Amino acid sequence: MELMDLDHVPDNPYLLLTPGPLSTSKRVRAALFRDWCTWDDDYNAIVQAVRASLVRLATGAVDASDCTAVLMQGSGTFSVEATLGSAVPPGGVLLVLANGAYGRRMAQIADRLRLGHLVQESAETSPPDLTRLRQTLATQPAITHVAVVHCETTTGMLNPVAEIGEIVKEFGKIFIVDAMSSFGGLPMTLDSIHADFLISSANKCIQGIPGFGFVLARRPALEACAGQARSLSLDLHDQWQEMERKAGKWRYTSPTHAVRAFAEALAELEDEGGVPARHARYAENQRLLVEGMASLGMEPLLPRALQSPVITAFHSPSHPAYDFRRFYDQLKARGYVIYPGTVSEADTFRIGTIGHVFPRDVRGLLAAVAASMYWQV
Ligand SMILES: *Cc1c(COP(=O)(O)O)cnc(C)c1O
Repeated sequence: MELMDLDHVPDNPYLLLTPGPLSTSKRVRAALFRDWCTWDDDYNAIVQAVRASLVRLATGAVDASDCTAVLMQGSGTFSVEATLGSAVPPGGVLLVLANGAYGRRMAQIADRLRLGHLVQESAETSPPDLTRLRQTLATQPAITHVAVVHCETTTGMLNPVAEIGEIVKEFGKIFIVDAMSSFGGLPMTLDSIHADFLISSANKCIQGIPGFGFVLARRPALEACAGQARSLSLDLHDQWQEMERKAGKWRYTSPTHAVRAFAEALAELEDEGGVPARHARYAENQRLLVEGMASLGMEPLLPRALQSPVITAFHSPSHPAYDFRRFYDQLKARGYVIYPGTVSEADTFRIGTIGHVFPRDVRGLLAAVAASMYWQV
């Protein structure tokens, strides 16, 4: 497929060091420059190829008949809401493990949809307590589903999803994983984490543009969702059936440009060397970042053992003259956009190391940070 000449794609005015939307390549942005018909074969063939690529990524297999992919309009949260609202049956009980804003958002969705649910909350700087999980599952047999966030983007913590999944499966429950900010950037399959549903979106580690999310599901678990959704537009099973029966057609308007760009992003991921190569790049970005920030006197919130290569929360400088907004503005003027903190237990700011971002960019950022420490004269 013809792409716009990359020399004609404008440069971005600054690099996004954020957890998504993030910096994308010119190759991905060049894919946006044409229109597609939402029910035409040319376009639906792209949708089917994207779904097949996602299944390959989530299983490591070319023919994985046990696993299927559903794409859903909206930001990542819409796909989380579609999954929870479709998977938990009337009378079912969802146990949400929460240790950050995104875990709490799942609990909020369950609350809003009036799903039967329980929340096991942990501190934002602690992983979920597995002993407590086991006790809860043993004493509350009414629980049917368990949901957890893989990389809790609030802190950058990597939750132990494989260990959690093992316990969930021991008790025979359905396991739902929000792998929004990790899928495509960290090696994982549905099998390796024991997931029945894995949720992610276009604008995170696959490095596409925003516009839709996707759910990788085991077929029997998705088949069981028929007729259960609390919402028409967020009915995961109906969306899946439409895509299956009509060879890639979406219900309602499809984010055509975002899907075409995502197909390009998947090809780019493969050219990079797949998930292992991308993971190695993110890990090197993050290693350089933490090392460089430490030499400037700024320490990460989490111990290294809990830290993902996706995003890092740093303690804000304790100097009375420090103000995030002023620091942010100075970095932005130098070409780097960072992220405010959302941790409730500490004053932090965050720097993402995912997206079309390379070690040379991290070195550039570190020089910009050194030049922007206006509180240290
Ligand atoms: C980005 C993200 C989401 C989805 O956020 P949206 O703003 O709806 O795209 C959900 N969970 C996690 C862990 C995330 O990082």
